[in-house]
Amino acid sequence: MTKTNQPMGPQTTAIHAGEGPDPTTGASAPALHMSSTFVVEEAAGFSAHDLDDNSGFLYSRWGNPTVAMLEQKIAAVEGAEACLCLASGMAAASAMFFTFLSAGDHAIVSDVSYAGVAELARETLPRMGIEVSYVDMSDPANLAAALRDNTKLVHCETPVNPICRLTDLVAVAKLAHDAGALLSCDATFASPLGQDCVALGVDLIMHSITKYIGGHGDAVGGAICGRRDLIGQLRAEAAIHHGGVLSPFNAWLIARGLSLLPLRMRAHYEGAMAVARWLEDQPSVTKVIYPGLPSHPQYELSQRQMTNPGGMIAFQVGSAEQGTALTTRMAAELEVIHHAVSLGHHRSLIFWMGTDGLMETSFHLEGQQLESYRAYAGDGVFRFSVGLEDADDLIADLARVL
Ligand SMILES: *Cc1c(COP(=O)(O)O)cnc(C)c1O
Repeated sequence: MTKTNQPMGPQTTAIHAGEGPDPTTGASAPALHMSSTFVVEEAAGFSAHDLDDNSGFLYSRWGNPTVAMLEQKIAAVEGAEACLCLASGMAAASAMFFTFLSAGDHAIVSDVSYAGVAELARETLPRMGIEVSYVDMSDPANLAAALRDNTKLVHCETPVNPICRLTDLVAVAKLAHDAGALLSCDATFASPLGQDCVALGVDLIMHSITKYIGGHGDAVGGAICGRRDLIGQLRAEAAIHHGGVLSPFNAWLIARGLSLLPLRMRAHYEGAMAVARWLEDQPSVTKVIYPGLPSHPQYELSQRQMTNPGGMIAFQVGSAEQGTALTTRMAAELEVIHHAVSLGHHRSLIFWMGTDGLMETSFHLEGQQLESYRAYAGDGVFRFSVGLEDADDLIADLARVL
């Protein structure tokens, strides 16, 4: 990145990594290269097997200069050796599953996860001959009990969507590695600034870059960071063969968002902390779950593991009926906060996640696992992505409906 290779702070890294003045034009800002193909000056192979680190650009499904600029930026901010970007967060999740798992393998997936990932793990992987166990990883003992000789991949998510429950990454990384499995973590809620996944032992760090990394709600994309060899395997299989690559235009937008991520995450944290504290004082709010609050059931872990508790809050307002009634009021009456799915944008977004509905469509939990979920979510939570608006305006907006 720099001529002297001097380590830089996170905000400098986010601005400068992967880019530099254009050698021919002197342009200071990164270029948008929409070219699908590249003129090749010497004989070259035409197979993913010919790909190596020194390959130039050949065709944009293999690699594109604007996408490569974003990949270098994300890897640098994450502190990882390499990064692969794909067309969405779900493309990143399916890339990891279908690159590192084969028929006859066993995978362990968090019993609560992003709904799309939960459904992929429950419906599609078993159809491919992959055995899957669903484990509440907030207690590493549950993971220890589920590991088998043929476990190849352990997939967790922390903080987990939508209940902000945490997983102790050091503990689960040790268990997975001792069993010869890779550990993947969906770190979308945390963002690369929320926890140092590489130092904590995660092999494959996945982000929906639609969320905090892009940060503006205008482009869908996904990314996986990790060691160069693992990312090389992913690129050959998931990008070149499965083909769900990120468009250069989205990469350009997302890189622009990423360049201010450290600044934004500080502001998300400040706003979320102010709103979470206010929510805790509201008589109609029965529970607030935010990793930055001392009332979080895993506050000790949050303090030890997270470098920024982020901008995601879950809160309860009593029964499912009270939740759905409030949803209706929010959809009609909120003036600043958008009643919409997604998260991590500069605009605040809020959405009701009813427990019974999610159990039916996505998680199918019973017994101890359902109890653990309900200890966080009760009958349901509002998933509140605190944006970058002034906290006083967000509080006034919520006060209108609560
Ligand atoms: C949104 C999201 C995904 C899926 O990402 P897309 O970009 O929508 O495909 C995966 N995991 C988490 C935690 C998410 O919030």
